[in-house]
Amino acid sequence: MKENFDFLMPSVNFFGSGVIKKIGDRAKMLNMNKPLVVTDKTLESMDSGPVAQTLSSLEAANVPYVIYDGVEPNPKIRNIQEGKKVYLSNDCDSIITVGGGSSHDCGKGIGIILTNGDDITQLAGIETLENPLPPLMAVNTTAGTASELTRHCVITNEETKLKFVVVSWRNVPLVSFNDPMLMLDVPAGLTAATGMDTFVQAIEPYVSTNRNEITDGQCIQAIKLVEESLREAYANGHNIEARTKMVEAEMLGGMAFNNADLGYVHAMAHQLGGQYDAPHGVCCAMLLPVVEKYNIIAAPERFAQLAKIMGENTAGLSTREAADLSIKAMRQMCDDVNIPRSIKSIGAKPEDFELMAENALKDGNAFSNPRKGTKEDLV
Ligand code: NAD
Repeated sequence: MKENFDFLMPSVNFFGSGVIKKIGDRAKMLNMNKPLVVTDKTLESMDSGPVAQTLSSLEAANVPYVIYDGVEPNPKIRNIQEGKKVYLSNDCDSIITVGGGSSHDCGKGIGIILTNGDDITQLAGIETLENPLPPLMAVNTTAGTASELTRHCVITNEETKLKFVVVSWRNVPLVSFNDPMLMLDVPAGLTAATGMDTFVQAIEPYVSTNRNEITDGQCIQAIKLVEESLREAYANGHNIEARTKMVEAEMLGGMAFNNADLGYVHAMAHQLGGQYDAPHGVCCAMLLPVVEKYNIIAAPERFAQLAKIMGENTAGLSTREAADLSIKAMRQMCDDVNIPRSIKSIGAKPEDFELMAENALKDGNAFSNPRKGTKEDLV
């Protein structure tokens, strides 16, 4: 537990059904004269989807815009370089990201290289940014990574296949929008992957060495909300109550890990994502029960508490027995939303493990893991 800490909160988040309609007026209030809208082709092609709704609100408020729709999943350095070119050649003055974590991180990355130097690999690490980004708003469409309100920007170096993180308070969008109506049509598989990311982002800060009482409160409520709503959102995507609860969980988890950090699940998921271009949420979910089982001996009481938070009956059990139940509950959640059990499913090869383990131990998320591991442990 940390005793002295800075506590980072997003500035403004518009939350609830229909809030996307406010984006045009908010762009005006922020003096955005020509924002670059950063998104991907799938979202752009959706009739009346999140991009269409964002653009129609900007048009209603007479805010001209330019679109960059080249974002790839696990956004690459080439995406932020292309986006920067479009920004500069059209005299843009601000950025609006529309999508999930990939769009938000790509928009943050474009902002970073516009004001902090062209080589983003030199800026990997914690609080490396000297200059503010251009004004940035984020319209979120998955629940999710919480990138719309975090200080993290995760980019993949396509040449080295390494995913790296730029962590800075300057990355936090000025304004974000979480409108659950934009998430009703998220397909079941994507609901599972992104929802499991939210689950992990509440569990890792709860057992992190950088946690505090405030982040504990956020994690506990986020975990309860995921337990109440992820299965339902997966089985019945149009259940607005389940979608809303998942967004609330996402935001709570995001605020928690902005401050308490994460652990080996994320440090290792970044290696799988970078090496095999696999969906981030699926990587996190497959690793979750395995990594946390390994972590139990470093914090058995925390894991026993986790079991209770997840609704397990721990009456009469020893601390260790209760802690083991938390792993069973994590595994059950993964199975219920059809997460594959083996990393072979994303093409992982044993000959890559040693290098990935070495790199995971250097990932910014590794340092707050409750148990200190060796390369062999991670392999
Ligand atoms: P994503 O942004 O990569 O989106 C995945 C797919 O879902 C895309 O094809 C997209 O078009 C589609 N999609 C998004 N919203 C949709 C909607 N409403 N309806 C239908 N389809 C939709 O997925 P993600 O899981 O949100 O983001 C993953 C990325 O975020 C990874 O690169 C991961 O490393 C990163 N990440 C960032 C942070 C952070 O704090 N910055 C935290 C965790 C993960």
